[in-house]
Amino acid sequence: MRSEHLKIIKRIVIKIGSRILTDEDGNLDRSWISALASEVAELRRKNIEVIMVSSGAVAAGRTLMGITERPRTIPQKQAAAAVGQPLLMHEYEMALRTTGYKVAQILLTRDDLADRQRFLNARATIDTLLEFGIIPIINENDTVAVEEIKFGDNDNLSALVTNLVDAGLLAILTDIDGLYDADPRLKPDARLIPLVRSVTKEMERSAGGSGSSVGTGGMATKLSAAKKAGKSGAATLILNGKDPGILSQALQGADFGTLFLPAARSLSSRKHWIAFTVRPKGRIYVDEGAGRVLRQEGRSLLPSGITRVEGNFERGSGVRIYDHEGIEFARGVTDYDSSEISLILGRKSAEIEDILGYRYGDEIIHRDNFVLL
Ligand code: GLU
Repeated sequence: MRSEHLKIIKRIVIKIGSRILTDEDGNLDRSWISALASEVAELRRKNIEVIMVSSGAVAAGRTLMGITERPRTIPQKQAAAAVGQPLLMHEYEMALRTTGYKVAQILLTRDDLADRQRFLNARATIDTLLEFGIIPIINENDTVAVEEIKFGDNDNLSALVTNLVDAGLLAILTDIDGLYDADPRLKPDARLIPLVRSVTKEMERSAGGSGSSVGTGGMATKLSAAKKAGKSGAATLILNGKDPGILSQALQGADFGTLFLPAARSLSSRKHWIAFTVRPKGRIYVDEGAGRVLRQEGRSLLPSGITRVEGNFERGSGVRIYDHEGIEFARGVTDYDSSEISLILGRKSAEIEDILGYRYGDEIIHRDNFVLL
C-alpha cells in the first residue's frame, strides 16, 4: 500500500526542522547536512525533483550572536534569522556542490504567496531552477515577516509549497519517528502508525502543542501540514531525519515513519490556494438555506442568501464564509467589494444593477472561486 504511493513520486518537497539540523550547541551539524546532501543527490539521480524547505536560520544565527536562550523579542529573532540564513545556505551550498548539485535560495513571506501574481512568479522561478537541475532551498523571510504576514511555521510553509510546486510528496524530516497512537514521551508502549488514510479529530487532539524548544512546530502543525498537502493531492511522510538515508529506503517501500495518503478528493491548485494561502480580508454570513445549498459542490454564492458582511475589502479579496450557526464552512474570492455587498445582500441578483447602477455578474462569489472547507 505504502510503496504503491511512493514508487510513482516524481517531485518531492523535503522539509527539514531546526532540531535535526543543529547539534547540542546550536551549531549547524555539518556531517548531517552532508549526509542529507548525498541523499538529495541520490534522489536526483533517480530523476526525482527535490525542493527543500529548511528551518534553522534562527537557531544558527542566535548561536553565532551568543544568544543562549530562545530569542525573546521579535527583532532579536529577526536579527538571528538574518545572521543564520547565510550560514545555513553556505552549508547546503558546500555540501550539495560536493555531490555535483547547485542550490538556490528562496525566501518567502505569506503575502508573497497570497498574491496570485507573485505565487505564479514563484512557481515559474522554481520550475526554471528545477529545469536547470538546481535544488531550490526555501525558508520563510523571517527578517521582514511580522505576525500578519507569517506562515506561522515551516510545516505550514512546506505544505503551501507542496501545492505551489505541485509535488507528489511532502517529506517532513523531524526528530521523532512519526505519528504515534499516544505521546511516546509519556507512554513507552505507544505505537507508531505506519499509514494514515485521513487525519482524524482524535489524532489532532492527541497531537497537542510543540514538541521542541528550537523550531516552531510540533506534531499538531505536522498533522495540519499533512492535511493541507493531502488536499493538494500529495502524500506526506513524517520521518525521523537523524539518519537521512532512511528517506530513500522509505521511498523504496521500507516501513519507516508515517505515510499520510492524499485526500480522496483533492482541490485544484488554484482552489487550494484560495482555501489555504490567500489571506481572508472579511467575513460573509449566509442564511440556513444558502448554507445548505452551498454545501453541495459546484454552487455560487448569490446576494440573496447573504445576511451580513464584515470587514472592509475590495473586489477580488479572499473572504471567510460562515453559516447561520456561525461556523466557517467555505472560503472564496469575491466579485464585489464589502460596501457593494452590504447594499445588495438579501436581494435578488436581478436587482443588483438597479441598486448599484452597474453589475459585475449575478454572483458575489462565482463557483470557480468558492471552496468548501
Ligand atoms: N524560519 C525559521 C528558521 O529558519 C524556522 C521556523 C520553524 O521552525 O517553523 O529558523
